[in-house]
Amino acid sequence: MNLFRITIISFILSTHVFAQKVTYNHIVDSTDTETKEVISLIENYLNSTSKDQKENPFWNTEEQLNHKNFDFLESEFTPSLYMGFPVHVLSIKFKNDVCQIKVQFSYYKEDGTPYILAIVNYIAKKENGRYKLYNALSHNKQQWNCTTVGVVDFYYPKYHSFNYQKAQKLTNFITAICKHFAVPIKPFEYFLADDYDEIQVLKGIDYYLGMGGKSIPGGKATDDKVYCGGLGEYYVHEVFHLQIGQHFPDKHFWTSEGIATFLGGSRGKDLSWHIKRTNRYLQQHPEIDLKEMLKLTNLDHQTSYHYVLGGLIAKKIWEKGGWDSLKDLMSSGVTDDNYYRAIEKNLEVKRTDLNAYIRAQLAYESKK
Ligand SMILES: [Zn+2]
Repeated sequence: MNLFRITIISFILSTHVFAQKVTYNHIVDSTDTETKEVISLIENYLNSTSKDQKENPFWNTEEQLNHKNFDFLESEFTPSLYMGFPVHVLSIKFKNDVCQIKVQFSYYKEDGTPYILAIVNYIAKKENGRYKLYNALSHNKQQWNCTTVGVVDFYYPKYHSFNYQKAQKLTNFITAICKHFAVPIKPFEYFLADDYDEIQVLKGIDYYLGMGGKSIPGGKATDDKVYCGGLGEYYVHEVFHLQIGQHFPDKHFWTSEGIATFLGGSRGKDLSWHIKRTNRYLQQHPEIDLKEMLKLTNLDHQTSYHYVLGGLIAKKIWEKGGWDSLKDLMSSGVTDDNYYRAIEKNLEVKRTDLNAYIRAQLAYESKK
C-alpha cells in the first residue's frame, strides 16, 4: 500500500455485536417493489456478519467464486470500510437491468459537523431472478480498454495510448522478481490512469477521506489487483507487493515497503531521490535519533521514513548478501524488535550504532 494509509483509531465499533444502522436520504420511488427489494438487499448485506470467505447470500456467486475477498471496497480503508461508521443511503438509481446504490459512511462529531469516511457505489443486478450485489469495478471496467501482456490484464481509459514496451518491461520484472524470491508467478489485473482518482471512480468511490491535494503518482495493491495513477504500465512498487507479499507473512511493515521502494521507488520518485532529500532534512535535524527510527512516519507528503530508510536498509542488505539476504529479511518477524535484530544480523550494525550508521550511509548515497 503506497498512497492511502489512513487509520481511524478512535472510531471503531464492533459491527459483529451491534446491528449496522442504515438510514436513507430522499429515495425516489421508495414504494416501488424493485426499490424495496434493493433496499432490503443492501441492509441485509451490511448487517450480515459473513463478509468473509463464507458464502454470502446477498452477493453474486461469480465474484465470490473468483475472488477470496469478493467485496473490493472492504479493504480500501484501514482496518475496513465496515469498521462501524453509520451508513446513509443517498440514492438508488435504475438504468436498464443495472441498479446503482450510492452510500455514505459518516458520523456527526460532537460539535455537530459531519465526518465523512467515504461515498461509495454498489451495483445490484438480478441473478436467477433475485437482486444481488456486485462490485462497481466489475461493471465499470467494461467501459475501459483492456490489453493482456503476459500474466497481466492491463485496464486503461480510452484517452491512454497503450505502451507495449513498458508493459513488456513490467512482465520481465515479474519473471525476475518471482525467480529471486522463489515464488510462482500470479496472473492479475492492473488498472492504470493519469490520475489516481480516475481509478477511485472506476472502483465506485466518489469520495474518500484523504482525497485532494496535488496529483502525484500513487498506487495500491490487493491480493489480485494493482491500481496505479501517474506511472502508466510500469509501477513496480505495487507489483512487488502483489507478487511477493502473500508468500512472506512474517515480515515487518518497513521490510515490505523498503524492498518495494528499493526496487520501484515511491510516489513516482526512485529511492535515490528520496535519499537525497532525507539526507538534507536529517542534516538540519541532528536531534532526530534514528535508533528509534521505527517510530518515525512521514517526512512530508512525498517522503515517508518507512519507504526511504526501509529502502536504504534493503539496498544495503542486498549489496551485502544478495537476494538470499532479502528473503531472510522478509521472514524475520513482524515486531520492531525483530526488524532491529534483522538489521544487526544482516548488516552487522547494532541498534546502538544505527543513528550514526544511517546518517553516514545517507550522506554516502547522496553523493552518487
Ligand atoms: Zn508499498
